[in-house]
Amino acid sequence: MGGGGSGAQDRESREVLDQRGLFVTGLQPVFPTGVTCPQISSPFGSPTRYDGSQRSNDFGGLHNGMDISLEPGTPLLAVADGVVAHAGTGGQLVGNFIWLHFPPESTGLPVHVFARYQHLREPAALQPGAPVRQGQVVGLSGNTGTTGGHYGFSGYDHLHLNLLVSPDPDFETAGPMLRPSAIVYLDPLGLYARPAGGILTSQSLRGLADDQKRLPVSVMTTEGQRIGAPAKPIWPVACKRDFRE
Ligand SMILES: [Zn+2]
Repeated sequence: MGGGGSGAQDRESREVLDQRGLFVTGLQPVFPTGVTCPQISSPFGSPTRYDGSQRSNDFGGLHNGMDISLEPGTPLLAVADGVVAHAGTGGQLVGNFIWLHFPPESTGLPVHVFARYQHLREPAALQPGAPVRQGQVVGLSGNTGTTGGHYGFSGYDHLHLNLLVSPDPDFETAGPMLRPSAIVYLDPLGLYARPAGGILTSQSLRGLADDQKRLPVSVMTTEGQRIGAPAKPIWPVACKRDFRE
């Protein structure tokens, strides 16, 4: 596959990827007190994997999503109310995936968000068009698409979550890809931002002052209790309540 064609967006130059919003933003999640949450093991835009090794050349060698290392079979949660946009099984580096569409009214964000949850243990049980509620389990974590390559026989059990954002709800699908009217990446931590001026892009997030880059994140506990600001997206994996006497 040379330039053009279906793989073209994977092979854009760093300059084009920068325009499309793929770079390190410096955002940091701040979780509620009293719970322990699965942490980011490799952030959006990172040139390295969780183990410190350099990424392959896809996406300019930059991470187009965020990774969370998980025990296999960990429930993955819809971060907001939405609709299944696409689901299926890709090959190496993809595995089982599900794309969810979150409209602005369900996230409070000024964009339509398309989120891909990747490396699911089993093919998604939900079909395109199915509505999902915030906190609903949309799949279980796994290592599909990660075995046999860099991670070897055992693969790497984790959630890879990546977001595309668009001013409108239109999209097409091609293989494991979903293409809104324009390909614009957003740091998944942008879900928890409240940008001034109604603009939400990786560029606007990168430009925030350091203290504004620490973003309070709402969460669901493993007991199903929601903690944090109402009507905001939640963390895609439940958090364990800390034991207290
Ligand atoms: Zn990843």
